[in-house]
Amino acid sequence: MKLGPIGLWEVVVIANVVAVIFIAKRRHVLGARRWWTLGGLARSIASTLRAPIPDASFARLEDVRMEFRLRSGRAARVSFDRVHGRRVVRLEVAADEAPSLTITEAGTVDQVRRFFGLARGVSLGARSFDERFVLGAPDPERVRRAIGPELRHAITGIFEKRPVRNLTFANGRLAIEANVRDIELRDYPNTFDFLDEIARAFDRKPVQVRALGLERRALADQEGRLRCSYCHEHVTGDEPDLVACESCATVLHGACWDEHGGCPIWGCRGERPERARAR
Ligand SMILES: [Zn+2]
Ligand SMILES: [Zn+2]
Repeated sequence: MKLGPIGLWEVVVIANVVAVIFIAKRRHVLGARRWWTLGGLARSIASTLRAPIPDASFARLEDVRMEFRLRSGRAARVSFDRVHGRRVVRLEVAADEAPSLTITEAGTVDQVRRFFGLARGVSLGARSFDERFVLGAPDPERVRRAIGPELRHAITGIFEKRPVRNLTFANGRLAIEANVRDIELRDYPNTFDFLDEIARAFDRKPVQVRALGLERRALADQEGRLRCSYCHEHVTGDEPDLVACESCATVLHGACWDEHGGCPIWGCRGERPERARAR
């Protein structure tokens, strides 16, 4: 069959070449979605997260970076990186003096190591959590103290149904990393919700400490009620036996300070408390 000067066969070949070029050009990938341009990809991220639309132009995916605030007011950031040749997305939130810690899901190698009693990382003494995750931290004792049942629950939640590579606390930020192809853009907002929930466990709120006659800071629970940073009992600020760390201003019971022998806040090296003067 002839179609004027060119045959059907040529038309089919040309159409295929054009299709391949078109598909190859749409090479910017997040999960199952593809974009023609990095600008288009960045605009999709911005609208999904209700973040300001960036006006920069991007040469590489690693240049796309977005700073915005979550509904709770917490500062958040989306950025991209290359790790061991793979493109990863990093979703981060600000976490008040968050400790240094990396949490990864235990792979087969870790399970085998555990079987032979060669486990890496910190054990929290919570069996199902310890079996599932590998924790790397410079200060295991502080990790054990800081990660209670509520936080374990939130951390497990973030790994559930999400292909997250790791969760990291460092330099006052809490971040997850995932392969860009594994995590769908529509899951970014609910991942940020989980990060927000975890970061809340490290928030401190101002509290008027009556015994000191000064405003200091206290850890808060999920409902925003203040608590002692060591025993986690609720406090109001009116307790006569409250002390505050001289370095980080966090309050706790005087007896709790004495029992712990220093500031229990992760990452704080405070060695002296402010105490009410004996009258
Ligand atoms: Zn206490
Ligand atoms: Zn302190």
